[in-house]
Amino acid sequence: MVQVRGLHKSFGRLDVLRGVDLDVPAGSVTVVLGPSGSGKSTLLRAINHLERLDRGYVAVDGELIGYRRSGDRLYELKEREVLRQRTGIGFVFQNFNLFPHLTVLENLVEAPIAALGRPRAEARATALGLLERVGLADKAAAYPRQLSGGQQQRVAIARALALEPKVLLFDEPTSALDPELVGEVLDVIKDLARSGTTMIVVTHEIGFAREVADTVVFMDGGVVVEQGPPAEVLDRPQHERTRAFLAKVL
Ligand code: ATP
Ligand code: MG
Repeated sequence: MVQVRGLHKSFGRLDVLRGVDLDVPAGSVTVVLGPSGSGKSTLLRAINHLERLDRGYVAVDGELIGYRRSGDRLYELKEREVLRQRTGIGFVFQNFNLFPHLTVLENLVEAPIAALGRPRAEARATALGLLERVGLADKAAAYPRQLSGGQQQRVAIARALALEPKVLLFDEPTSALDPELVGEVLDVIKDLARSGTTMIVVTHEIGFAREVADTVVFMDGGVVVEQGPPAEVLDRPQHERTRAFLAKVL
């Protein structure tokens, strides 16, 4: 489903991604771990073409993201095309990023109408179903500021789902939350995993990784140091850098 090949990204002289390969099969959950500055957010942003790539490519369902190929060269797509591609790649941020001036329901219906051309009534019905799914049907008329952080993040997940993405990317979805609110958000993500949603989740929640991930990817210094099933990477890491990281976070 998601294919990343030979991905390089620098900011000035800082090489942040130095040749990343990643395969995320349809219906699977990949959890990305790694120390601060290892390039996790940059990787997610590159998958969504929020960053230009210096080398390599990203493909979703076989479609190049952000570029088209002509001969052996890649040309960047127009913004409108990129926006269309992004509707297929949901992104859930650490800080929710809800529209503060819109109600919860409006946060969910505007993009499907604008980006997918859904009739308003249909977008509303879908949105209400999604709010039900994340346990917030009673908050449809509320504004984001009236919700807890955990509730806001559940709305953000529902909003991403409203575009019926092929894959959902999460960048530390629980790290801005008070500890007692982490569980309700992880429960929603676990529910999505059970229903076969393809996801890439950057998180420091090792327990979540152990329970939900099909593949755990450990990044350090802009490369994938090791990857495999959680029982291998978390319990029998092969690399010293992985062991040192896990010793700190476990
Ligand atoms: P964290 O766990 O702290 O979120 P991360 O693994 O997500 O870290 P990134 O945010 O991908 O790390 O950043 C990797 C490196 O790239 C860092 O050194 C960061 O300062 C740098 N970086 C990221 N974005 C930019 C940018 N737009 N311009 C310059 N440097 C950047
Ligand atoms: Mg980050």
